[in-house]
Amino acid sequence: TTPSWVQALDKYVASKPIEDVAADLGLKAEEIIMLVANENPNGMSSKVKEAVATAALNLNRYPDADAYHLQKAIAEKYGVPQDWVVIGSGSSELLGLAAETVLSEGTTAIYPQYSFSLYPMVARLCGAETIEIPSTGDFNADLDAMADAVDERTRLIFLTNPNNPTGTYLAEKDILAFLDKIPPTVMVLFDEAYVEFLEPALRCDSMEIVRLHPNVMVARTFSKAYGLAGARVGYGIAQPGLLSMLNRVRHPFNVNDLSQIAALAALQDQEFVEKTLEVNRKGIKFLSEAFDALGLPYMGLHANFITVKVGPHADDIVQYLLKKGIIVRRMKSYDLPEWIRVSVGTPEQNERFLEVLKEALAKFE
Ligand code: PMP
Repeated sequence: TTPSWVQALDKYVASKPIEDVAADLGLKAEEIIMLVANENPNGMSSKVKEAVATAALNLNRYPDADAYHLQKAIAEKYGVPQDWVVIGSGSSELLGLAAETVLSEGTTAIYPQYSFSLYPMVARLCGAETIEIPSTGDFNADLDAMADAVDERTRLIFLTNPNNPTGTYLAEKDILAFLDKIPPTVMVLFDEAYVEFLEPALRCDSMEIVRLHPNVMVARTFSKAYGLAGARVGYGIAQPGLLSMLNRVRHPFNVNDLSQIAALAALQDQEFVEKTLEVNRKGIKFLSEAFDALGLPYMGLHANFITVKVGPHADDIVQYLLKKGIIVRRMKSYDLPEWIRVSVGTPEQNERFLEVLKEALAKFE
């Protein structure tokens, strides 16, 4: 019999510590393969461990209110003035702050159909109405329809590149043409949480976009390519006019000392990022070729996950994987009940996932 917690899968996995999930499955915590949250499967940089362990910490003192050193290092890396940078407790906090800065009752926020679930959540928390714009046939944001939807109530637009959960990306010329149509009274949150995974030739010049558009904030994170999801550090880059408004709703000391130190060390360890990108490239190739061989359609390959159509038995397949300790994401909440999203793991994790997926496909076909 299927335990009731497996029935209520998403809620269960999201609300329980991994040790408890493992215990329920009769497994050890280290046997669980987490391919559900697009985290970095390579652990974290050893330089981060060292920096945190040897830091001259005084946790009796408040941290630097603006994360000065991290802010400075990010500004230098991207060639922007320091007051163009804001540090957040994960880029999630920055999405929330963007919403708080510009939204209230009577205003609206626009976002594409297949996009990060936090967008409508933070907008509604501010009392705003949310407008979801149907995506194009290839699961990408429909930029023309999004621009057409803007009216006098619109205050915020969410745009993601590359996008979660579709793995698609937007071409620079399309982004620029879109931004030219957006009035300066509308803030555009340009979410680049997965940008490091995008092939350099396909990337847009985000800093130039910020220079050209005082209403755009680029949001990035240390949670993915930098391997620091647990530290909760993200950053925003925008012109000071916009950031001074956003800083009014940001709590001072929003990023703790340990996380500031960890992120600074992670930023300086580009070797770790390069290794991560290499592991990811190989994983994307391995999984997409395997899906091709199995005849399973999938969405874009431009991030660190693949959303793949496993068919009408997707729930059974997800449960089967879970019972073997492999956790992936269902796409039910996106009205894609036949699809699952799998984060790219280590080569061993990808192989194990594929082996169990094949078992499940054979069992439920
Ligand atoms: N944006 C997108 C598109 C995401 O997928 C995520 C995390 N899943 C985030 C932002 C938030 O990441 P974090 O808060 O860890 O920086």
